[in-house]
Amino acid sequence: MENKNVFLPSYSIGENVYAEVAKLCMPYGKKVVFIGGKTALEKASHLVKKELDKVGIEILATLWYGGEAAFENSEKLKHEKAVQDADVIFAFGGGKAMDTCKVLTGQMGKTLFTFPTIASTCACVTSVCAMYKVSGEFDSLYWRTRPAEHTFINTKIIAEAPDKYLWAGIGDTLAKAYEPEFSARGKELNYYNSVGITLSKLCSEPLLKYGYKGLEDCKNNKVSSELEEVILSIIVNTGIVSNHVINDYNSCVAHALCYGLTIYPKVEHKHLHGEMVSYGVLVQTMLDNKLEELNKLLKFYRQINLPTSYKCFGLSWEEMSGVFEKAYSVNDVRVAAFEVTVEKLSKAVQSLEEYVTRN
Ligand SMILES: [Zn+2]
Repeated sequence: MENKNVFLPSYSIGENVYAEVAKLCMPYGKKVVFIGGKTALEKASHLVKKELDKVGIEILATLWYGGEAAFENSEKLKHEKAVQDADVIFAFGGGKAMDTCKVLTGQMGKTLFTFPTIASTCACVTSVCAMYKVSGEFDSLYWRTRPAEHTFINTKIIAEAPDKYLWAGIGDTLAKAYEPEFSARGKELNYYNSVGITLSKLCSEPLLKYGYKGLEDCKNNKVSSELEEVILSIIVNTGIVSNHVINDYNSCVAHALCYGLTIYPKVEHKHLHGEMVSYGVLVQTMLDNKLEELNKLLKFYRQINLPTSYKCFGLSWEEMSGVFEKAYSVNDVRVAAFEVTVEKLSKAVQSLEEYVTRN
C-alpha cells in the first residue's frame, strides 16, 4: 500500500479575520512578501499590513502576480530578491493569483498564507493549480505538496466585491454536488473518496437554501450568516471534496459542456466559468434523468438568474454540435455512471429545452 498524506483546509473566517494573521504568522517567521491581483492588493493589503505592523512583521515587497496563472509568472517572481528572502508568502486575490503563488511556494518550499478577496473558487484551500500560458490557453495541472498553510476568509471584503463572482462561484460549486457522485456511481469507494462524495452534498444544499439571500446580501455589501454559509460552501467545502476524491471523480458532464462552450470566443469572453458550468449541471441532471433534482435546481436558477438554456449563450442549434463534439472529446466524461456520447449530450440539451418551456 502506498503512503498517503491528507491535508484538510486550514482556515479562519469572519468580518475581522485579519486580526488573527500576526499570531498565526509568527511561528513561521517575521519576513513576508505580499503577492496578488491589483484590485485585491488595493482592497485588502493595507488591512493586513496594519496587523503585521503591530508585532513588527516586515513586508519586504508587494508584487503583482502577473495577470495569469502561468509558470512564466511564477518563474519571474522566483527571481525577486524579496521573495527569496521571505519566510511567508501572502497571496491576495482570486483563483489565478492563488494558483501562481501555490506553484511559486510549492517549488521554493516556502510557507503560503492565502487571502481570497472574492468567493469564486476553492483555489485558496486546494493543492491543485490550473496553469495557463500567458496567452490564456490552458497549459497543465500542478500539484503543490499540500494546500496553503492557512487561509483567511474575510467575509466583509467578499461582501464588498462584485456580486458576479459570488454568482459564478455558486454555479461552479453546484457542479461539485453532482459531478463527483455521477462519476463515482457504481464504483467501489475507499475512505477518501467516500469522504469526498458524502460531503459533496454540502455543495448544493446550503446554496439552494441560502444562495438567494446570500447573493442579495453581497449585492448590498452586507455580511450575514447566509452569505457566510454560501462562502463556506464555495470555498471550503468544494476544497475538501476536491482534495479527497481522485481526479477522475472531480468533474464530468457539467465541466465538459463548459469546455465545449468555450470553443466559441464570443461565449468565452462574455460568460464566466461558473456560469457556463452551471448550465452544464442542468444538462447532466437531465442526462441522468433526475427530474426531482432538476426541478429544485430550476427553481433556484430562476431565482438568481443562472442560465437554463443554451440560447442564453447566444448560440444557435447548429453551433451546439461543435459544443457536443468538444465536450465528448475531453477526459472529464470518460469516467461516468454510464457511457456519455455525443448523441446523448445532444438529446439531453434538447430535452432540457423542452422541459424548461413546459415547467
Ligand atoms: Zn469549475
